[in-house]
Amino acid sequence: MKLYPLFADLSRRAVLVVGGGAVAERKVAALLGAQAQVTVNAPTLTPQLQRWVAAGRIAHRRDAFREAWLERVWLVVAATSDVELNRLIATFAELRRIFVNVVDDAALSSFHVPAVVDRAPLIIAISSGGEAPMLARLLRERLETLLDHSLGALATLAGRLRRRIRLRHPDMAARRRFYQSLFAGPVAALLRQGRPEAARQAAEQALAAPSAAPAGSVVLVGAGPGDPGLLALRALRALNEADVILHDRLVSDEVLELARRDAERIEVGKQAGNHHTTQDDIHALLLQHARAGRRVVRLKGGDPFVFGRGGEELEFLRAHDIPYEVVPGITAAVACAAYAGVPLTHRDHAQSVRFVTAHCQSSHDSLDWAALAQERQTLAIYMGVGELGMMQARLIAHGRAPSTPFALVENGSRAGQRVITGTLANLAERAMFHEVRSPALLILGEVAALAPSLAWFGPPPLGATVHGIHAPDAMEPATAGVLAAVHRA
Ligand code: SAH
Repeated sequence: MKLYPLFADLSRRAVLVVGGGAVAERKVAALLGAQAQVTVNAPTLTPQLQRWVAAGRIAHRRDAFREAWLERVWLVVAATSDVELNRLIATFAELRRIFVNVVDDAALSSFHVPAVVDRAPLIIAISSGGEAPMLARLLRERLETLLDHSLGALATLAGRLRRRIRLRHPDMAARRRFYQSLFAGPVAALLRQGRPEAARQAAEQALAAPSAAPAGSVVLVGAGPGDPGLLALRALRALNEADVILHDRLVSDEVLELARRDAERIEVGKQAGNHHTTQDDIHALLLQHARAGRRVVRLKGGDPFVFGRGGEELEFLRAHDIPYEVVPGITAAVACAAYAGVPLTHRDHAQSVRFVTAHCQSSHDSLDWAALAQERQTLAIYMGVGELGMMQARLIAHGRAPSTPFALVENGSRAGQRVITGTLANLAERAMFHEVRSPALLILGEVAALAPSLAWFGPPPLGATVHGIHAPDAMEPATAGVLAAVHRA
């Protein structure tokens, strides 16, 4: 069976729903959304249906179903649990040539109710012809995540301008280009910000502009720590619309796989001390692609505004009049803490948390070590693994107790995540013993002591006691030498 899709205007048209349970209630809600005149026929109603009756939004017939009621209705929905009654209703409707939907019975139904993504006036309806309603629902959920809620407002705006756009751009190709920039450019961005008036003005301006040059734009997107499940819906949408993606090396393959297939991907990775692409190169690339009218996604690990130089990139874009948006990402500190079972603050252990970077000599010297060494605060330190020894020494020198617990999270939220725990006194030594590699984040503070009991992701934390055996406080000199060599490599 192949169904013919059709969108029906039910406003002020009479519809009969037989049944007063939860299923009937859902059907009535959708019909009310389409402004149908609904009569519900059932001996008893759900509380919500009762409220609608009391508010005069629907009519109620209590007595047993009568064929004569079909006289004046356009559609009928049979949502009773009585199979025979449902069949009877379907038969009568058929005789009168009224479309009928029998809930959960495709064979008896002459119309099906699709799964719907509602961005009115834009409506996406999905049907599996009654074969696999769950599949239709699954597809609906996917589309829900992909389509911004401002799409409805965009459709309304486009509708209002339609005649004028046609007059302004009689040529079909030019018109298509205009619509493309309307749907993907600054007008759509303003609607996403919930600013319909500004969006209308921008659209007017675009209509008045001499030519419909495609407007490029940049979305600065936080890719999170690696697990694609931690991506924001807005980030996913931006990746789906991107023409070009400029991404850091830290961005995981799993996240990149979610992007539009034909988007051009450019790695602009920077490694500590070994800059492949300079910041100026990145700026130049952003400008070049945006000026060519492309939708550029600048994808950064974690959050773009946390040790990500996102601010500098925005300053550059602003100076060159390129429109931009920012989508936050889950920063490594927040993700690593969650995935290692370390609450960053805790009523009993830490009233504040600091995000600190210690990537290079200059950042070490400008840090306020005395403040960092204070108790009852959590330090989330973004760093290269090579900085651990220096940090340990300075924090202890400035008075942080050597017994302060730490959790060092390597590859946080990723498949290879490892958590190493210990105390400040043996920090560098334990990192070396376990050959910790970048990316790794150090959480130092009283809260880190909770990792062994609260950890839930990946293998259990590597604590000082392994299988009940206390790990060596000092390593054999030979082992230490080998590990130091590995570490330097
Ligand atoms: N903007 C990023 C941070 C960039 S600095 C963010 O908000 O997360 C890079 C540092 O972040 C790395 O050296 C490491 O300390 C930390 N980091 C990033 N991703 C990580 C991960 N998955 N696990 C552990 N640390 C990570």
